Order: sequence, then C-alpha cells, then structure tokens
Amino acid sequence: MPMFMPILRHAVAGLIVVSLADAALAQNKPDDWLTRLFQPSATEAVPAPSGGGHQWSGQSGASGNPLMTANAIRAAAADFPDCIAGLWPAAESRGITRATFERATGGLTPDLSIMDLLDAQPEFTKSPWDYLDILVDDARIARGRELLAQYAKAFAAAERAYGVDRYILAAIWGVESKYGTKGGDRPVIRSTATLACVGRRRDFFRGEFLAALEIVQRGDVPPERLIGSWAGAFGPTQFMPSTFERYAVDFDGDGHRDIVDSVPDAVASTANNLKSYGWVRGEGWGYEVVLPQHFDYLLAGRAKQMTLRQWQGLGVRRAVDKPFPRPAERAYLLLPAGARGPAFLMLRNFSVIMKYNPSEAYALAIGHLADRLRGGAPFVQPWPRDERVLTVAERYEMQQLLARRGFDIGEPDGLLGPRTRVAIRRFQAATGQIPDGFASSVVLDRLRRPQ
Ligand code: CA
Repeated sequence: MPMFMPILRHAVAGLIVVSLADAALAQNKPDDWLTRLFQPSATEAVPAPSGGGHQWSGQSGASGNPLMTANAIRAAAADFPDCIAGLWPAAESRGITRATFERATGGLTPDLSIMDLLDAQPEFTKSPWDYLDILVDDARIARGRELLAQYAKAFAAAERAYGVDRYILAAIWGVESKYGTKGGDRPVIRSTATLACVGRRRDFFRGEFLAALEIVQRGDVPPERLIGSWAGAFGPTQFMPSTFERYAVDFDGDGHRDIVDSVPDAVASTANNLKSYGWVRGEGWGYEVVLPQHFDYLLAGRAKQMTLRQWQGLGVRRAVDKPFPRPAERAYLLLPAGARGPAFLMLRNFSVIMKYNPSEAYALAIGHLADRLRGGAPFVQPWPRDERVLTVAERYEMQQLLARRGFDIGEPDGLLGPRTRVAIRRFQAATGQIPDGFASSVVLDRLRRPQ
C-alpha cells in the first residue's frame, strides 16, 4: 500500500484516524470520493455530462511514484491506443463483444487531468465538526425527507428485503452525491480507461474498466448515463463499476440494474451492498454518550468492545435522557475530537458503514444525517471549535517528535493511525494530560518543548 493514498483519506477524515486496515476494507473506493468531496471546485461545480473542460497541469505528481512523472504520463498517453487494444482479450473473456468494445473505445483519448487528482495532496485538513457542518446541513436534511416521502414505497421494500434502515440509505445518497446532483461529470469508461493505462494505479483500474464495459455490454446503464467521478464512481450512491458488478440489483423489475436513473434500483443496490458488508437488521449505528468524571480514557478505541450494559456500569450514559434500548449490543467508544468533544458508543453497523467508505468522520456523518432524517435532534455536546486542526506537515512533525522521545509510531507518514494514537496517549499520560489520544495543537506544543 503506497503511503500516499491514505493521506488523502486522512485529509478528509480530518482529525479522525483512518487506518490502513480500514483502507483495505474500502475495496472499491480509492481516494476518489473523499478527495472529490473536499475539493471545493469539484463539489460546487454543476455536473455537465460533457466531461470536457478538464485540463492536465502537465506537472509531475506529488507522490514521487515513477509512473507519475510528467514524462511517464506523456509516454503512457502516447501508448494509450495500444494499451487499450491490449485489453481486448481480457474484455473478450468477460463476454464483451467486439462491437461493444469498439463502440466504447474507438477514438477514445485519455483524460490526463485525472493524473492531477490522483496525486492531489491537500495541505490542510478538515475537523470532524467542519465535516459534519458541511454534510449534515438543513438543506440536506430537508431534501432527504422529501425524497424519503416521494420514494416511500421503494425505501420500505428495500428495507424489508435487505434489512437495512431506510434513513441510512437516504443518508448515503445525500452524502455521496448530494442526492444525485453532484456525482461527477466524467464518462466512466474514459476515466477508468485512462487510469488503467496511465499512472500508478493501473492494475486496480484495469478491473474497473473491464467492469464498466460489462455494464455497457449488459445494457444495465446506457453509456451516456455512465457518468461519474474522476475515479469512475457513478450513480446516486457512487458505486465503482466492480461494486456494481457485485451488488447491483434490478429492484423495479424492468430487466435492467439501472442504479443511475431508477431510484428503486439505486436504493436496493446500496442496501444489498451494506447487507453483504454485515449490516445487522434492527440495530442502529451508535449513540452519543456522556462520560462520567474521572473517566479512564484508555478505554476508548476500536480495540475495546463491550456491551452497552457494561459501558453503563462504567458510568457512561446516553446524551439524551433515555436508556439504551438493547443493552446487550456491543459497542466501542469513539472520541472524534478528544476529551473536549462529544463521545459516542459505536455499534457493529458503524463499522459496516465504514466499509462503504473507510473514514470514521464519514460514517459519523452518515449515522447522524440518518438520525436527523428520522426526526432526531442535533448532537447534545459541543465540539471544541476553538481547536486548531493540525496541517499534514505538523502531523509529520508530531510523529517525528514522538519517535525522538522513544515512542513507537512506525514510519512517520503524516497519518495519525492507531500506533500514533497510542503513542500520543502514552505521551499524554506521561506528562499529566488527559490520555485521549487526540492530536491537538496543545500536544504538539508540549512535544516541541525540550525534554
Ligand atoms: Ca431496474
């Protein structure tokens, strides 16, 4: 796993850590969605299905990967027609006809602007509260409720068939594409063909390109409607072509798995995907909780799973004045902003949402938007909005300073993964701070002081 990819994820997750294991679970969503979401130009652009207007900078990529130098990109682009032609045998073995292949690839040119996005490295990152402010706003709540009412029958049927909460499905629709209004403007065949032949992720995208051809071959989605993000995610809930292959269903019974233009197909396909990831029917995603005074913060983190009853025994209670409805459910404690922010007990379904996109901030936004769509209230506890989010450079520095003091953080990578979090806690504990593992500017300042 190149270190470059998770940085992008992490950048979006803000202060919340995305581990490499999580990244592996993401199977089909590379840096795509997360990058797109936090490039303001990309999220604010009105999708134009032309796919035109994107320009490559002509610069070498920031990853330093030899396949990403400007010269390597130019050479691969010159070789593009041969590369595509070389994919015919693999396409044929997947049942794609020569006619489909030629229609899809005849005269196709690579979209080199994607290379800039493949190696985009944000300098600044978002905090969990900024992230939630953007994704769970009044407009998104109102529109989601309208769609839930308009497609009540489809949502109810999908909920019955797959056991996945309709509000979660609507929230994924809302967050992934702003209810289908911001799903990208690039033809999926061209994007995946480009990435299959140019740049540092060719092996992965060869499979996506072939899967996209299969979608066209089967007539599930017409090629002109197969429009998506630069990495090839398309439709209201941003399926990658290979995700489509695995999970798309024809729920309205018209013979096509059209997740782009059929709401029943899109909703049911997303439900089918979550069900295969292990969604537990009848359980929620988690609860906002309040911790007692003198709480042992070393109990936080995914490694410590306990039943809600056991958490209750430690003095943890719901932020709203209600009991846990099913106290035997197992959960872990998440403190997205450290001890100064809200606390959450996360159930198994929270991890299922993270398989859809491997970010705790993402999963929290989905869970919270779902609750708001259902009629729930905003979180009770405030976020530490005065807290400054560390830059990527500062994260590197923090890791180097921890390593210099003898804490094991692995290789400094600008990511604050589980090992770094443990190291921060140990440093906090050793210096009389609350050991919440939160990479605050206070911790960085303390680390910068001479030992
Ligand atoms: Ca259909």
